[in-house]
Amino acid sequence: MSNDSEGVLIDAFGAEDALDDLGRRLVGEAPPLALVNAVEVTEVPADGAGAPPGDFRIVDSRAAGAPAVAVPADVATCADCLRELADPADRRYRYPFINCTNCGPRYTIIQSIPYDRASTTMAAFPMCDACRAEYTDPTDRRFHAEPNACPVCGPHLSAPGLEGAAAALRDGRILAVKGLGGYHLACDATDEAAVAELRRRKARDDKPFAVMVRDLDEARRLCELSPAAEEALASVRRPIVLAPRRPGDEAGLAPGIAPGLPELGLMLPYTPLHHLLVEEAGRPLVMTSGNLSDEPIAHDDADAIDRLGPLVDAILTHDRAIHIRCDDSVVRAFQTIGVGKRRLLSETQMIRRSRGFAPEPIRLVRPTSTHILAVGAELKNTVAVAKGANVIASHHIGDLEHLAAYRSFLQAVDHLCDLTGVTPEVVAHDLHPEYLSTKFAADLDLPGGAVPVQHHHAHVASCLAEHGRPPDRPVLGVAFDGLGMGDDGTIWGGEFLVADLTGYRRVGHLRPVPLVGGNLAIREPWRMAVVWAREAVGRDEAERFGAATDERWKAVLALAEQPGALLTTSAGRLFDAVAALLGLRARVTYEAQAAIALEALASTVPDSEVPAGYPIEAADVLDPGPLVAHVVHERDAGTPVPLIAAGFHAALGTAAAATAARLAAASGLDTVALSGGVFQNARLSAVMGRHLTAAGLTVLVHRRVPCNDGGISIGQAAVAAATAS
Ligand code: ZN
Ligand code: ZN
Ligand code: FE
Repeated sequence: MSNDSEGVLIDAFGAEDALDDLGRRLVGEAPPLALVNAVEVTEVPADGAGAPPGDFRIVDSRAAGAPAVAVPADVATCADCLRELADPADRRYRYPFINCTNCGPRYTIIQSIPYDRASTTMAAFPMCDACRAEYTDPTDRRFHAEPNACPVCGPHLSAPGLEGAAAALRDGRILAVKGLGGYHLACDATDEAAVAELRRRKARDDKPFAVMVRDLDEARRLCELSPAAEEALASVRRPIVLAPRRPGDEAGLAPGIAPGLPELGLMLPYTPLHHLLVEEAGRPLVMTSGNLSDEPIAHDDADAIDRLGPLVDAILTHDRAIHIRCDDSVVRAFQTIGVGKRRLLSETQMIRRSRGFAPEPIRLVRPTSTHILAVGAELKNTVAVAKGANVIASHHIGDLEHLAAYRSFLQAVDHLCDLTGVTPEVVAHDLHPEYLSTKFAADLDLPGGAVPVQHHHAHVASCLAEHGRPPDRPVLGVAFDGLGMGDDGTIWGGEFLVADLTGYRRVGHLRPVPLVGGNLAIREPWRMAVVWAREAVGRDEAERFGAATDERWKAVLALAEQPGALLTTSAGRLFDAVAALLGLRARVTYEAQAAIALEALASTVPDSEVPAGYPIEAADVLDPGPLVAHVVHERDAGTPVPLIAAGFHAALGTAAAATAARLAAASGLDTVALSGGVFQNARLSAVMGRHLTAAGLTVLVHRRVPCNDGGISIGQAAVAAATAS
């Protein structure tokens, strides 16, 4: 048996039955982290060079060809290591850095390839004899476990240590805790005063905090967990899982954790340090990224002391360096919604694809011979490379409007290219000329040039790539999104595209309305509410609403009425406007907060009580005007807001689905792909999924790739791979 950059080669000799059995067990009984893409069998002569039967040998790795096997993602502590961690007789009893071949840090400590200890931040810790013996023994669980360590030779915690940190947390203090891909800010999740103080110090107004609980049982006491949610929570990737709170019983969690939201973000411990800390603290802990407001998460020790020191009462840190920052991933668990035997929605949806997932590849159906770099969009930025049959996306980088995030972007580009052996020949980028990622791409001047990819084409392409769609098989793509540059100089975000990976045709869209204030419209939904009120009901309503918000609405109205105002078809901004018109939020502190509040209210209404007949008709230029007018009318008539929210979702979703079905039929297409950040809205996704499926269409929704801008780099890379020669 040998191991090279192309995969594993096994020479086996024996009876046909036994060999068949081996082939089956290679797939069926593969170790937890093994990724078996394919087993290829060829016959070899039993005489000659092969090893004689009965002798098992591992032959040295052959360094041949370019590395096709990706750098592994970080893996949560395995059951065997947890057993040793709790065993007083084990030499790693309560050792916070225990790991083995099946678990431990990977992506976050790897500095360069090939992946071995010398090229990780563990190079600073020469193994002791006992660790070395495990590392070199093919029968040991720690054979070639690159981060292998023990209390004698490995990393250590610094003061205040585990007990001190746990005591401080129980005391209501706020701590910075060094994790796998960066520092967390932590506090007692049951202590409202501590949670409020953390919000104040971190300058984070409403955005929910993630909570780390000790095990699945504790998670079940806080949230209603579907089987898919439990599977995601307990998986070795250990993302934050957003799931519905258990009504009435929040097991003493502080109300300030997720103010006004029907969901909580939970995660289970994923490092030995987390396991020990949560157990020692004896209660759920807030574990939120270690940063001030929207800055990148701190991962470098000096930087953490600098930036987080002033925010916390103590820092629990250690001497194993984090090479690359990597935020926690976030998935959302949906209630299962199905028609007949067909499941419409994926049961979990990726919101942020980062730690535990990066840098795992998405496979291309048709490999590319070009090395491609894709630089993503502006918000929730990720970057990706394409090489051969793989698209490899980076960790979550953040919003590039912050200088610190842009620096992190530059590092991520270099690091990802290094790790994957990619020398970019082509760069794919957004159409928006003002995005820092676009400017970066323009300055690269690569031999193969630049491939501009329209934002919503990239969204749909990311969905097609995730589903392994051949590059030239078009679908009807529905991209409901925030804001993205269109190819006609207007700002798109409510698009119907006939698209495959090689190109697209815009066949429909929401009715365009003036976009006032550009990006300000994202943070101030009242602006688009004024615009939509004027469009749908008339100037009087716009003035009435504007005056009630006590904002600079007159200027907005004047701008909206100016000839040549910038136009947008954004579905995200439509949701914002409706939320604001219903009095939910005039301003938000994080993107889509108003739309999330609208969905939350709608989801309190049972299907049987959703008001029918809200007016909006399917059309290639889908006009939500009458719908918005009706929403305002119902509001003034005193209809409860949750009912209006539910009626709005149902009507818009139904009309959008009917439009998509009609456009698909007109182009002879049998498949619809739903992409764009608005499809994080489970209610809208469900309505559209149900109608499209009932119309006999196949519906592609996101599962492994975010439907929001975190997936744009993957879509760009897939488009460039399909179009670059
Ligand atoms: Zn392990
Ligand atoms: Zn050791
Ligand atoms: Fe987008």
